[in-house]
Amino acid sequence: AQIKQVEYVKSSARPSDCPKDDRPEFAIVGRSNVGKSSLVNALVRKKEIALTSKKPGKTQVINHFLVNKSWYIVDLPGYGFANAPDSVRMDWSAFTKGYFLKRKTLVSVLLLVDASTPPQQIDLDCANWLGRNDIGMTFVFTKCDKRKAKKGNQPDENIRSFLQLTRKYYKVPPPWIMTSSVTGFGRDDLLLHMSQLRNY
Ligand code: GDP
Repeated sequence: AQIKQVEYVKSSARPSDCPKDDRPEFAIVGRSNVGKSSLVNALVRKKEIALTSKKPGKTQVINHFLVNKSWYIVDLPGYGFANAPDSVRMDWSAFTKGYFLKRKTLVSVLLLVDASTPPQQIDLDCANWLGRNDIGMTFVFTKCDKRKAKKGNQPDENIRSFLQLTRKYYKVPPPWIMTSSVTGFGRDDLLLHMSQLRNY
C-alpha cells in the first residue's frame, strides 16, 4: 500500500477537463488550514509535492496527482475561507459540485476534519451535502496529536461529537480514520484503507 512515486498530472478548470483514463481516484477536501498539505506530504513522505491550489484564489482548479502510475490523489478547492458573513455556509462552486456528481472514477472523498476543535458547522454541511448526494466518503481526522492542556475538548471528544452529529446524514456511516501529520499516526491505516477501497 506504500506510495513509491507521485507525479503531478494536470490542473483542470472544468470537470470535463479531468484525465480521461479510468484509474481510480480519491478527492481530498477540507477547510483551509485543516492540515491538507501536511497530510498529503506525510502520505507521500516528501517535503513538498506542491499542492498548486493551496492559495485560495479566484480560479478554482482540480489538481490530479498520479500515484505509482496506478491511481490518483485529487486536490480540490477548499471551502470556508472565513471572511464573508455567510462563511458558515458551505460555499462550493457549481464546479466542485459538478466534479463530485459526475466523476465516475471517484472511489471516495477524503473529508479532512480537524480533530483539535469541536465540530464546525461548515464541515457538517459538507458531510451532509455529500451524504445527501450518495457520494462515498471517508472522514479523515487531522491533528489528532493536538491535546489541550486543561480546558477545551480533546481530539477523542471532538471526533465522537462529529460522528454523532453526522450520523443522520448517512444510511451507512462512513469509515473514519485518525491521523497526525506530526507523529505519522494513522498514515499506514489510511494508505491501507485506500488500497482496500481501490481493490473492492
Ligand atoms: P492546509 O491549509 O489545509 O493545507 O493546512 P496545512 O497543512 O498548511 O496546515 C495548517 C496548520 O496546521 C500548519 O500550521 C500545520 O503545521 C498545522 N498542522 C497540520 N497538520 C497537523 C497535525 O497533524 N498536527 C498538528 N499539531 N498540527 C498540524
